[in-house]
Amino acid sequence: MYVPRIAVVGGGVSGLVLGKELASRGLHATVFDTGEHACGGRASSREAADNGRRFSFDHSTQYMTCTEGSRFESMAKEWAKEGLLAEWPADRVGTLKDGSFTPFDDGVVRYIGAGGLRPLADFLAEGSTEVVRPQWVGAMTPVGGEGPKRRWELASGPRGKPLGTFDFVAISHNGKCALRLAETAKLQDGSPAAAKTRASLQCAFGARPTEELKKQRKLILSSVWALMFAVDKPLNVKDNMEGAHIVGSEVVSWASNITAKRRHGKVRTDTDGGDTQCWVVHSTPQFARDNKCPQEAIPKSVADSVIAAMTREFERCAGLEPGSVKPVFTKVQLWGAANPLTAAGVPAVFDSETRTGACGDWCQGPPSVEAAAESALALADAIEATFSPTTARDPAAAGRLDAAKVRWAPCSGDAAALGAFPGTNVPSMGEIAAAPRREGGGGRGGRGGADNASVAAAGGAEAGVEPV
Ligand SMILES: Cc1cc2nc3c(=O)[nH]c(=O)nc-3n(C[C@H](O)[C@H](O)[C@H](O)COP(=O)(O)OP(=O)(O)OC[C@H]3O[C@@H](n4cnc5c(N)ncnc54)[C@H](O)[C@@H]3O)c2cc1C
Repeated sequence: MYVPRIAVVGGGVSGLVLGKELASRGLHATVFDTGEHACGGRASSREAADNGRRFSFDHSTQYMTCTEGSRFESMAKEWAKEGLLAEWPADRVGTLKDGSFTPFDDGVVRYIGAGGLRPLADFLAEGSTEVVRPQWVGAMTPVGGEGPKRRWELASGPRGKPLGTFDFVAISHNGKCALRLAETAKLQDGSPAAAKTRASLQCAFGARPTEELKKQRKLILSSVWALMFAVDKPLNVKDNMEGAHIVGSEVVSWASNITAKRRHGKVRTDTDGGDTQCWVVHSTPQFARDNKCPQEAIPKSVADSVIAAMTREFERCAGLEPGSVKPVFTKVQLWGAANPLTAAGVPAVFDSETRTGACGDWCQGPPSVEAAAESALALADAIEATFSPTTARDPAAAGRLDAAKVRWAPCSGDAAALGAFPGTNVPSMGEIAAAPRREGGGGRGGRGGADNASVAAAGGAEAGVEPV
């Protein structure tokens, strides 16, 4: 019996959940991901080695929350039962303002990755039929007609390595990479072969006030710098604070003692031991925008000034003496496409005619592990209903999702960009300051002209938004 082959392009939470779900429903799911060492995307951990020492950081996702009664809640409970998640005690995480820590007191369960987030990504990856990594997918070419006759040939690039033929392509990443991939989907006469999916992937960068976001008809992505450092002498932070959303700073938005946090997972994986502490500090989207550079090749001068500014501001916000952070290891990473500020307003994108779709946190928002997983589940339902209509759990899912119309709207103001995850209530951190428009898409270091041209054509050059 022929088993339909589904290509899932992107192995973050959405791609991994989609691959696992499809495989569990009898379909052949191949997940492609660029991860060198593991999958996970924006829910992964960064391992580092320096002078014979090793350190591990949760440099993006800090904790997960669940909407009560959601499918994600059941999933998270399963992951916790498997020992992949642990609960973060409420008195250890909260908000930090001018050196004063206020623990959350909202009764919300906050899950952390036990031993970091890599074990969760590895567990999810095992559920797919196959995972191909590290593998960039750079081209998708239609073969056959529309609907049931449509097949897709994937390749690493327009004239790159062939990666196989599939009955459906699910794009489970966003931003300029996703848009570029969808743009390679062309019929022989050069017309778009996945127009609906491609239209949903238009995007631009920004760190905008809510009122401006309301005018956008596309995905607007913020950026975030992650500062990772290790100290050999524990920092003198007050009140057992292990993680906090930072309120009232223009530079930093989050700080977390990874060593203390991971202790709740009962396995020490952050360092080799002793008094060493690993910390992660996140910037605000505005600071990231003001200090933008090519994320694959961060100039040393930019890294040095970002490290200095974020360290100084973290010390101030945490009520530490200036200069008291004396790291034995420091690293920065720029999450160029960190968090969606706008969401498409559909559970996932699905086109039965072209046999393409897309899922991720940007579909419903707010940017979160829950949003990514729920979007994947919605797309899994529609794909299953298409290929196994008689046995599908939700036979109407394909028609429903096919008919859903994308309507972009702000996720939930600036709070979403700064970590207002489902089920939690982070106090308003004030509007992000309106930054002047930059001609030519320039942040520090600039970006390629081809990128700017392609998105400008798609409407990315409107006032107040930087093209990708
Ligand atoms: C700094 C930061 C902190 C966050 N903190 C939290 C938090 O505490 N709690 C929370 O719930 N959420 C948090 N989030 C949000 C959460 O991480 C995301 O919403 C979620 O992980 C998104 O998953 P995804 O699958 O939609 O996308 P991604 O994780 O972005 O996955 C996409 C994957 O596709 C791969 N890929 C891209 N292009 C290609 C290609 N052409 N070929 C193959 N593979 C490709 C990428 O490498 C990546 O692995 C945070 C995000 C950031 C950036």
